[in-house]
Amino acid sequence: MIKHLINGKSVESRQVFENFNPANNQVIAEVASGGEAEISAAVQAAKDAFPAWAAKPAAERAKIMRRLGDLITQHVPELATTESTDTGQVIGQTQKALIPRAADNFHFFAEIAAHMDGESYQSDTGHLNYTLWQPVGVCALISPWNVPFMTATWKIAPCLALGNTAVMKMSEFSPMSIDRLGQLALEAGVPAGVLNIVHGFGKDAGEPLIRHPDVRAISFTGSTATGNRIVQQAGLKKFSMELGGKSPFIIFADAEYERALDAAIFMIFSNNGERCTAGSRILIQKAIYPQFVADFAQRAAQLKVGDPLNPHNIIGPMISPAHLQKVQRYIEIGQREGARLVLGGGTPDIPAEFASGNWVQPTVFADVDNRMLIAQDEIFGPVACLIPFSDEAEALQIANDTPYGLSSYVWTESTGRAIRMARDLAAGMVFVNSQNVRDLRQPFGGIKGSGVGREGGHFSFEVFAEAKNVCISY
Ligand code: NAD
Repeated sequence: MIKHLINGKSVESRQVFENFNPANNQVIAEVASGGEAEISAAVQAAKDAFPAWAAKPAAERAKIMRRLGDLITQHVPELATTESTDTGQVIGQTQKALIPRAADNFHFFAEIAAHMDGESYQSDTGHLNYTLWQPVGVCALISPWNVPFMTATWKIAPCLALGNTAVMKMSEFSPMSIDRLGQLALEAGVPAGVLNIVHGFGKDAGEPLIRHPDVRAISFTGSTATGNRIVQQAGLKKFSMELGGKSPFIIFADAEYERALDAAIFMIFSNNGERCTAGSRILIQKAIYPQFVADFAQRAAQLKVGDPLNPHNIIGPMISPAHLQKVQRYIEIGQREGARLVLGGGTPDIPAEFASGNWVQPTVFADVDNRMLIAQDEIFGPVACLIPFSDEAEALQIANDTPYGLSSYVWTESTGRAIRMARDLAAGMVFVNSQNVRDLRQPFGGIKGSGVGREGGHFSFEVFAEAKNVCISY
């Protein structure tokens, strides 16, 4: 049974829900289902723990964060297996990238918090202003299911390192790895009440958490629809909203073809396509379009789909039967809208032991018109939309014609064009001749329907710290 972590103790609820392995839909755990009472207790614990934690020297908090990072590093194989079993993300990704990144989050924010400094301004009116970055208080951290451990630690690490206390609500679809993190946090010396974890559904546990008057900041990662609802319901609080995306991956005819092809495949099919920064609209200049469509489909056809614990597999199952149905619905819509299905669309051949899992073939649509629903909506699965364009102006117009603005990718050997596109793309992040490679100092986040605020490096201060100005007359 997976229980809540409240004030350093494992806590049960009267209600439980079942957690499933998406590769076969077998029950893998029963989970305590939190509501108003558990949220109240967790927020109270976080509020009580706040003064002592905030008063601790930053270097001591940093030491604990580093220890937690080390413990994650020591447990990578175990945590990766748990994460892959719980979410269907393939072990090649969880073991090599996602779990180690979580350890990096703690090591990185330990240093940032231990060495943070404010700015000072001396004015000619005889005043000295300086800025103190101070903790906010109790923070609500809410995470989705797609890369839960990495996303949770991306929030917990800066939140705690900067002297705040937290109530974390994980997605009801992926409660397992965070349960282990709670144990490791206590082992690392995080005091009781500083990190609280409540499991449960959005309506039962999420809403009381975001509405709670003692919660001062909300760091949310999830869908645009939920983000909108939270902003309307939460009242006056600090926000960071990391939401959905439909990112353009633009390939000009002068691009380094093979590298662009590799990266395009990676950015839509890695993490099962369940990735906020997925390059899900692949825009290709007409001169190379027919060849690219053929090569892309041929490469995608080679991707192995199956048991996420098998290191040879590249694509695992969708998180749930409902999500699988959503992806399948979009595959039908794409065909009705007149896009050309060049690969997939059905259910892959899967060994009998996994036949009851949530499987879909890697799917490629060509000749997609950007006004189609498959190009406008976030499908969040291994479904690529290939869109031809003629010139730079048209590429830009198509790329920006979306409700979202999270990431974007440009492939060209022309420096001038790269600079112009980077300036004009309506997105929080532009990667030129690169897949999504993260530097933890970079501001991560989006514009328009993809969110508000940035996290990463000192940008995380915007949600997890208050800038207090001190003005002294001299
Ligand atoms: P979701 O919005 O359904 O759920 C996210 C979390 O919010 C879950 O923990 C859920 O229980 C909780 N929740 C639901 N309703 C709530 C409410 N009313 N109040 C408070 N909490 C509530 O999203 P999901 O399906 O779990 O995740 C997929 C989405 O997340 C995709 O849109 C994806 O793009 C996005 N995402 C964004 C980023 C990013 O950094 N921008 C990263 C990963 C995923």
